[in-house]
Amino acid sequence: MSFIRCEALACWYLRQARDLPWRHTADPYHIWISEIMLQQTQVKTVQPRYAAWFERFPSIASLADAPLDDLLKAWEGLGYYRRARFIHQAAMRIENEFSGRFPRDFDALLSLPGIGRSTAGAIASFCFRQPRPVLDGNVKRVLRRWHDQPEATDKELWLLAQQALDGAADPALWNQAMMELGATICGAKSADCNSCPVSEACISAWQVDTAVEKQATVAVIDLHWQVALHLCPQKGIWLSQRPQTGIWAGLWTPPITELNDAPAKAPTHVHLLTHRRLHLYGELADGAPSGTGQWVDDISQLALPTGIHRLLEKQRSV
Ligand code: SF4
Repeated sequence: MSFIRCEALACWYLRQARDLPWRHTADPYHIWISEIMLQQTQVKTVQPRYAAWFERFPSIASLADAPLDDLLKAWEGLGYYRRARFIHQAAMRIENEFSGRFPRDFDALLSLPGIGRSTAGAIASFCFRQPRPVLDGNVKRVLRRWHDQPEATDKELWLLAQQALDGAADPALWNQAMMELGATICGAKSADCNSCPVSEACISAWQVDTAVEKQATVAVIDLHWQVALHLCPQKGIWLSQRPQTGIWAGLWTPPITELNDAPAKAPTHVHLLTHRRLHLYGELADGAPSGTGQWVDDISQLALPTGIHRLLEKQRSV
């Protein structure tokens, strides 16, 4: 990639990029949290949560000191709660092993829970100006099209990403621009090659057919869960904490029983996860609840999955 093409991409980014709060900082704590939040969650959802996070946890030390339940509560609605768990573990490692300062060494970054090569690349390049590429889903798509290598493996893409970065004057700017290009112009559903700053260099320019591009197909498994609603006017609702592994790990829900077959009735709520479709059947339960749990009169104090919030809303409106 020539210097001129790098310049075109960088100029386009500086002129056109969306104004997002995490683009006004090179603080590794802020970049880290934004990158993790953005992994599986849309920008418009992340924006208000990003600001709220730092009001609740202004420093890595405050994160490390907080109970995991507080992080899960702060993460409520963002989904993929494993990310919050990893953030907590990584914050404790940073406090204990790196004296509370984010490591600059790339291998040390990679050793932190929940930080993979791409996230480490973002932190290393945005915060420490190291020539480390970012390879998120958007950048992969751009590189595949740019080089007309639709079948390129991750290993091949990392190589292409590194070669491109090595020709760029500013690794942070280059990575940001590639991410922005994939997020806005060279999208999964459409490629706006007329507006693209690298169209002269891109082998696939004006030839992308998103309908025939290979899409990874992941089987979605249907699960049917009966949700026992023990409600008491004086005490609230009975909730149990889920195990620390599996779906909704560590979150609070009414007692759930997995059914072998779909019941004849319609579910109260259907909640989609990446590889699972949860059919939730709310059932008002009589009698005293069994098993471990507690009465909760204010559910806003605990971290509940969004699927359970929706189920309770629907149950209330019946
Ligand atoms: S020219 Fe088209 S296909 Fe190539 S990177 Fe730009 S938007 Fe994507």
